[in-house]
Amino acid sequence: MLVFLVFNSSRKIFIAVLLVRFKMLLKDMPNDVRDRIIPVARPLDSVMYECITCGKNYPLTQLLYTCPDDKGLLNVRNNTFDELRQQDPDMLKKIFSLRKSLDDPTIINDQALHGVFRWQELVMPAVGLEDVVYLGEANTPVIAANPFMNEYVGTTFQLKHDGIEPSVSFKDRGMASAVSFLNYLYNNGHLKGFLGICASTGDTSASATLYLSALTHNEGIHSAVLLPKGKVTPAQLSQPLAAGAQVLEVPGVFDDCMDVVQELAANYDVALLNSKNGLRILGQKTFAYETAERFAYDMKDKVIVVPIGNAGNVTSVLSGFLDLYELNMIDTLPKIVGVQSENADPVVTWYETDKFEKVDVTQTGPSTAQAAYIGNPVSFPRVEKLTQEYRSKGGNLHAVRVNEQEIMDNMLLANRNGLTVCTQGGEAIAGLKAAVEKGYVSGTEIAMVDSTSHQIKFAGFQMDYYSDKLRNPSDPGRNYGVIPKKEYVNLPQTVQKDVTAVAQTLGLTK
Ligand SMILES: *Cc1c(COP(=O)(O)O)cnc(C)c1O
Ligand SMILES: [Zn+2]
Repeated sequence: MLVFLVFNSSRKIFIAVLLVRFKMLLKDMPNDVRDRIIPVARPLDSVMYECITCGKNYPLTQLLYTCPDDKGLLNVRNNTFDELRQQDPDMLKKIFSLRKSLDDPTIINDQALHGVFRWQELVMPAVGLEDVVYLGEANTPVIAANPFMNEYVGTTFQLKHDGIEPSVSFKDRGMASAVSFLNYLYNNGHLKGFLGICASTGDTSASATLYLSALTHNEGIHSAVLLPKGKVTPAQLSQPLAAGAQVLEVPGVFDDCMDVVQELAANYDVALLNSKNGLRILGQKTFAYETAERFAYDMKDKVIVVPIGNAGNVTSVLSGFLDLYELNMIDTLPKIVGVQSENADPVVTWYETDKFEKVDVTQTGPSTAQAAYIGNPVSFPRVEKLTQEYRSKGGNLHAVRVNEQEIMDNMLLANRNGLTVCTQGGEAIAGLKAAVEKGYVSGTEIAMVDSTSHQIKFAGFQMDYYSDKLRNPSDPGRNYGVIPKKEYVNLPQTVQKDVTAVAQTLGLTK
């Protein structure tokens, strides 16, 4: 490399130096931050459970999901946060950013600093690199929508594609933090073994079992999931099976599965991996951190759009931006727009009426945004509390509902414009358009849409749309009421091995 530098023109030296900076050894990191690049594992009591209802704290050595006193949800409290608040925010930005460039084969698990543990001081200070389970999550691409799509929704937007993750959804962010913490407890003798379990609309189980599969070679570590029978896509069902997990199908909807695993978690020694578990929220906050970093920490006139199901993701987005605000890393809280299908819209109704009531989704009709088809979001109490705090600090949260036709049409339109979104992504884009129409978002604001998964996992809905199978009153469980629009339908054509016939079919003329 040095020889290369010496014998080339100054311009090429500049290019070579840039390359070195992009992939850096620890020894090449700037002097002022070098000794902070590898995060230090703080003692276990640097983090604690904190009940969101009564404020009581509990040690993180127990597998605990609700307050033993009042059944309140537990958040993970970071006792080192005040220390961080004393630090120079620009220095913190520099450390977090440089970790992304660390590529040093002499450091064990160095690649884990490209994932959610790049923000270790904010995500989980008790866990050091040696215990992190990194499978390639986070650090997801940002894609600018084309001019046609911007005009269509009414404002400029970008897509942060969390479908580009190892299990093909954003859930990997939270699973990386939760499973890494379990790994840490196990490796340090706090847990002899555990059964990792979750209820799922498809993506949580895909992610949980993938992360657990990296650990199940250890004695005593097992993995199981509960799924609503027939209510996850074939691709999603294949994932926990591939990971070697025990897969239990329950006739019913997600909320039924969630009821069962909540009871299990309350009465048996299991590691619950739903977003009810505060450890999941920690990693999912990195979506907010990465988004802020992508906008150079200038969140003025920025809007974040998220589909809402069990409300873990919107909880994470709210609390992630609040973290950065508290640390003076951003000085404005972005606007947040949550989106739900009209068939599972308890958060939108709360937004509009200030009253929360769970929705019995067996009475409302099904949703193609199946991964967000939840009538009783477990994290709602967190959302209510965080929204209050968010608003008191000058930010805001809006919520909009969209219908099934809009979800499918927007997914298919986005797919034709370079955006490989799933039905939940279609829901989010439809929600952004609705938010502009309602005046919640103006045409001068820039939106970041959370693309929570990938088109390919939900391709069955596309095929059912093309063949007009999304409305069928005799099958209420699949009667989405969606009418295919001719301009979006695209079916394969059969041709013979004959050049003239093929050319004719393609409309080619000599
Ligand atoms: C889980 C999921 C959601 C909903 O996120 P919550 O945290 O449950 O609100 C949205 N989209 C996809 C693809 C999901 O897997
Ligand atoms: Zn409590």
